Amino acid sequence: MPAPVQRRLILEHIDEPGYTNDLACYQRHGGYAVLRQAVTRKPEELIDEVKKSGLRGRGGAGFPCGVKWSLVDRKSGKPIYLIVNADESEPGTFKDRYIIHQDPHQLIEGIMISCFANNVKQAYIYIRGEMPHGARILEKAIAEARAANFVGPNILGTGYSCEIYVHRGAGAYICGEETGLIESLEGKRPYPRIKPPYFPAVLGLYQCPTIVNNVETLCHVKHIVNLGAAEYAKLGTPNNTGTRIVSLSGDVKRPGYFEIEVGKVTLGELINDPAFGGGLRDGRKLKAIIPGGSSSKILKAGETFKLNRKGADGQMAKVDVPLLDLPYDFDSLMGAGTMSGSGAIIVLDDTRDIVEALANLAEFYAHESCGQCTPCREGSLWMSKALHRLTHGHGRKADADYLLHIAQNIQGRTICAFGEACAWPVLSYVKKFKDDFEAKGAADEAKAAAAKH
Ligand code: SF4
Repeated sequence: MPAPVQRRLILEHIDEPGYTNDLACYQRHGGYAVLRQAVTRKPEELIDEVKKSGLRGRGGAGFPCGVKWSLVDRKSGKPIYLIVNADESEPGTFKDRYIIHQDPHQLIEGIMISCFANNVKQAYIYIRGEMPHGARILEKAIAEARAANFVGPNILGTGYSCEIYVHRGAGAYICGEETGLIESLEGKRPYPRIKPPYFPAVLGLYQCPTIVNNVETLCHVKHIVNLGAAEYAKLGTPNNTGTRIVSLSGDVKRPGYFEIEVGKVTLGELINDPAFGGGLRDGRKLKAIIPGGSSSKILKAGETFKLNRKGADGQMAKVDVPLLDLPYDFDSLMGAGTMSGSGAIIVLDDTRDIVEALANLAEFYAHESCGQCTPCREGSLWMSKALHRLTHGHGRKADADYLLHIAQNIQGRTICAFGEACAWPVLSYVKKFKDDFEAKGAADEAKAAAAKH
C-alpha cells in the first residue's frame, strides 16, 4: 500500500515561503485566471460542471453543491443572493479561518465564479464575530479585487456586475445555521426559520432566492472550473469526490490542517501516520474519536462497523470495518452511524475523562441554543445541569438514563438541526461509555450516603 499523502488544491500555495494574502502574490501564482476564463462561458455550463463534479458541501451537511444551485428559483424575477457562510463556530473546526487569513483572494475568485454562474449581483460574506482580523483581511482583499475589476461594475469588460459585502456576526453559533444566518443578516435575532416554506433557494434573504455556501465549498468551485468536472471527480472516491481540508486536533503529536482526497485516507492514517497526526502522545492509548466536529456522534476505540463494500465478484456485501480503517469520507462515516460534518477530527486518549468532555460540550450547546423551541431550550439546559452535577460530586447513578431520556426527546422535535447537534453527543457518549457515567454517579451517591451517617 502506498503511504497516504496530502493532495493539496485549496492549500496548494498557502504554506510556501513568501506566500502572502495580497492580490499581487495571488496573481503571481495564477490567481483570477479561472475567473477570466469563466466569464467567457455560459453560466449554465458552469452550473453543470459543478453538478457533474459531485462536489458536496464542506460546511457540515455534505449536500451536493450543484443540486443546491439547481434548486434556486430563477423564475420569480426577484434578485438572487449568494451568502458565504464564514460563521465557522463548530468546536474543533478551524479550516475556513485559515483560508480567509492566508488566501482570501482564492475565496473571492470562487465567489465571483459562483455569482456569475448563478446571475447573482450581490454576495455577502457572513463572518463570525470572533474573527475580526479575518473580516479586515477580507475587506482589504475585496478592495484590491474591486480596483483590479474582478469585483464591482462591468467585471473584466463583460457587462456583468457584482458586489461583495462583508458582514460581521455577533458571535452566535446558531448563525451557522443558514436560516438563522439570514435572519441575522436582515438585522433580526438569529431565530432559524421553519422549512418548509423558508427554503433559502426560494425564500431566503429578503424573501428572495438565496444560495448559502461554505467558504471551502466556494474555493472548490474555482478548482472544478479550472480542472473540469471529469478531472475533479477523479479525485476522491465515487459519491465522495474531490479533496477536503481536515482540521485535526486533540491528543495527537501533530495537530493541524491536512488536505486529503476524500475517502483515500483512513481515520487511522490521519491520526497515526507521520504525514498527518503522527500518532498519540508517547505511552498513551486511543480512547475515542470525535470525527466531524463536536456535534458528530463519538466513535469508541475498538469499534467495528458493517459497511457496504464491493467484493472481488463485483457484488456489494456488508463487511466488518474496524474504526481505524474507516475511510474519511461522507458515506463511510454515515455508515458508522456518525458524520464527517465540518471535517474536524478531535482525538481523545486514555487520559481523558469522557464525562468531563461531554459536560464541556453540553455547557456550550446549552449556552448557544437560540431558545425558540422548548425541547432544545429546556432540554439542552437540563442535560448541562445533570452533567455539571456529575462532574462536581453531586451526581446520581440514574443520571445516565436521565440524560438519554432527555436527548431522545429533543432529536426530531425541533425547528432546526441544533436539536440533533446537542442531542447526538449525549446519546452517543452515554450509550458507548455508560459505565463511566454510572460509576461517577454511584460514587457520588455513596459519598453522600456516607456523609449522612
Ligand atoms: Fe433554536 Fe434550538 Fe430550536 Fe434550533 S432547535 S430553533 S437552536 S431552540
